Amino acid sequence: MVISGKVKGLVFNIQRFSIHDGPGIRTTVFFKGCPLRCLWCANPESINPFPEIMFNEAKCIKCYKCINVCPFRAIIQHFDKVIINREICDGCGECMNVCYSGALNLCGKYMSLEEVLNEVRRDIPFYQASNGGVTASGGEPLMQHEFVKELFKIAYEEGISTALETSGHAPWKALSSVLKHTDLILYDLKAVDSKVHEEMTGVTNKLILENLKRASLEAIPIIIRIPIIMGYNIATEEDIHKIGSFLSKLKGIERVDLLPYHKFGEIKYRFLGREYKVKAKPLNKEFISNLKGIIESYGYKTSIGGLS
Ligand code: SF4
Ligand code: SF4
Repeated sequence: MVISGKVKGLVFNIQRFSIHDGPGIRTTVFFKGCPLRCLWCANPESINPFPEIMFNEAKCIKCYKCINVCPFRAIIQHFDKVIINREICDGCGECMNVCYSGALNLCGKYMSLEEVLNEVRRDIPFYQASNGGVTASGGEPLMQHEFVKELFKIAYEEGISTALETSGHAPWKALSSVLKHTDLILYDLKAVDSKVHEEMTGVTNKLILENLKRASLEAIPIIIRIPIIMGYNIATEEDIHKIGSFLSKLKGIERVDLLPYHKFGEIKYRFLGREYKVKAKPLNKEFISNLKGIIESYGYKTSIGGLS
């Protein structure tokens, strides 16, 4: 997005000392906005491409200061409760500024390249000691590909290794422009069956699979990340066979990570006034080991949990 003539990125978190988003110690920049609607999304605050207010009712001390400052009258008191009308809230953050208990938090901040880079540069010694670097994640970072492209270009020039975590659901032009300065791709793959993919994520996987095929010819290592949501994207071992078979035709896949379902993101749905609908079956250790064995049978190094 261009603000006052400058390209700005909408970022909802910058996580330092991350060890799950590529090799070594990394700084992960989480971009807000995603074209997918995965039913199990663990970062629901990442989906909408605009700032949003999150309300943790348990922290509210009922001072009602927020009601008076809201320029849009989006907050009302109902008995002793604070209610936010998200239809008219514009994410200005005024209410957060007077909420001293920390019940209100604005998720999503427009940042300049220099601001993001300054955060990333803080840990250069750790990247050097651990083979780490910066990871662009989300949401879907390719929704802000112009910003990510510039971020990676400068990081590259400064000797900071770069990793892109993507769903691959973006025009090839956007993806390829970022890949010019990318050292590693973390490619999320939910299902190769298009119907299943569409039911679970709201979009077909046509673009995702095509982009993966094209990216695999770019001589950049790729780690495939497969969420395992039993009864949703994975119902039987056959579903993993389909993924293994698809991958076996590609080059450049360094490893496959199986990511077992967890409910850590559930509480955030409440903070956003949304409903968490997933009722996935608990993962059986033996079943996930079988899935790992199946991917390995297609010749891939496979991990459970994606620790690198
Ligand atoms: S300002 Fe914060 S603590 Fe006070 S009523 Fe609003 S949400 Fe609750
Ligand atoms: S973010 Fe702004 S518009 Fe939304 S509730 Fe708070 S003060 Fe009102």
